[in-house]
Amino acid sequence: MAELFANYINGEWVKRASTFDNRNPANTDENVGDFVKGTAQDVEDAANAAAAALPAWSAMSGPARGNVLFKAADILDRKFEQVAADMTREEGKTLPEAKGEVRRSINIFRYFAGEGSRMPGMLVPSERDRVHMFAIRKPIGVVGLVTPWNFPSAIPAWKLAPALICGNTVVVKPASAAPLSAWRLIEALHEAGMPKGVVNFVAGSGGELGNALVNAKALKGVSFTGSCEIGNWLHGEASKRRLRIQLEMGGKNPTIVLADADFNSAVENVVNAAFFSTGQKCTATSRAIVEDSIYDRFVSALVERTKKLKVGDGMQPGIDIGPCVDKGQMETVLKYVETGRKESGEPLCGGRRLTDGAMAKGWFVEPTVFKDVEEQHTIAREEIFGPVLAVMRAKDFEDAMRIANNIPFGLSSSIQSTNLSRVFEYIYRAEAGLLTVNLPSAGVEYQLPFGGTKESSFGPKEQGPAALEFYSDYKTVYLKY
Ligand code: NAP
Repeated sequence: MAELFANYINGEWVKRASTFDNRNPANTDENVGDFVKGTAQDVEDAANAAAAALPAWSAMSGPARGNVLFKAADILDRKFEQVAADMTREEGKTLPEAKGEVRRSINIFRYFAGEGSRMPGMLVPSERDRVHMFAIRKPIGVVGLVTPWNFPSAIPAWKLAPALICGNTVVVKPASAAPLSAWRLIEALHEAGMPKGVVNFVAGSGGELGNALVNAKALKGVSFTGSCEIGNWLHGEASKRRLRIQLEMGGKNPTIVLADADFNSAVENVVNAAFFSTGQKCTATSRAIVEDSIYDRFVSALVERTKKLKVGDGMQPGIDIGPCVDKGQMETVLKYVETGRKESGEPLCGGRRLTDGAMAKGWFVEPTVFKDVEEQHTIAREEIFGPVLAVMRAKDFEDAMRIANNIPFGLSSSIQSTNLSRVFEYIYRAEAGLLTVNLPSAGVEYQLPFGGTKESSFGPKEQGPAALEFYSDYKTVYLKY
């Protein structure tokens, strides 16, 4: 019998008869846990509990709120190995990747716990004599946090921690494909002594709960990470009620490789960014835009390196690439591969589902490289969210910049070049919120703003000091003394 993971509402673990299972995508015989299927009423109860808890939590001092987060970080640290293994079993990423993500969640909790002792406001000189003017931050109220499955711990952590430290109370709705990692954060906050009602967790169908959440009377804001389709729908609903909203959504991220790049590290960076975490990072590279003069040499080195990647169960040592998160995601990836075959030709490597031996029980796809992909081809325009890379030829730097920017998305972007002038030119002209230079396009830290531009994102940035902007408002004071 799999363990049952209850929802968390008003400080109580709430069970219901209806549950859903959480299958290991590397071995679907394994049920990682049964989760209580929350209802619209549960969401309403959770939002009401959060509203009731708001006055006391927001009145608490910032450092006192920070202490709860520090304690929760210590609890996660003690359970580190188990929490990371849970993540590999539910999402499929390799154990070292899962450990990196859990470490990041712990760091995020500690970073924002410290923010409780700073919580910068504003103090400026007045034009008037003996007038003191300043602005202090206040929480926005009850916030709904809706999260995806691909970073099932770090994304809930980077929404929860700033929301709580600013004095808000929350309702978390995790992705159904990987709810356990978010549940572990809630468990840690509960064990750290979080007052009842401050944090609430309701798992279950996004369609049903999302609708209830965005219509919950107590709600004042929503922070969402996921697909453009759902994000855009949420935006419409939230706008009707003038809820504050923050959206982080899809991408079609380019890596430009110029002829002056450090060739070997450029190959490594593209392979890392395209295929690690099975290409299921929102910041993954899905278009490698390579300068003509090194194109053929780069493509053959890239393919040679890609063929060496070991695909398998991420719990096993030496595995580079785990499975797709579920059957639906694998089918989406394979459908794009078929479209790629028709429009761009046979891939140079990969392109098949893997079912050898134990992989028959999971959702594995070979890392796949297409070359000579053109701008109008589907796999150069639409987010695939899997281990599929489109390599595109650029005449020169200007052409590469044009191709890189010629999409509706703007999440991450990368350049591989040793030419400082071109790198700076790129930094100023790249249409994306997250840029890397001579690094993989994926792999961000938590101390600086995170988020995209164009159709990838909407609203204030997440993480770093910028995170406070979404989760707090200013109260401006003019004081005559
Ligand atoms: P998704 O299908 O949009 O789901 C995201 C979350 O929204 C899940 O919790 C989902 O619940 C919920 N949801 C579904 N329907 C909803 C509705 N009608 N109202 C409210 N919530 C609803 O995205 P995903 O497949 O989990 O994640 C992959 C996508 O996330 C990719 O497009 C990727 O680029 C994007 N992403 C972006 C970033 C970024 O920072 N820009 C980071 C990570 C991922 P269920 O799971 O129950 O359906």
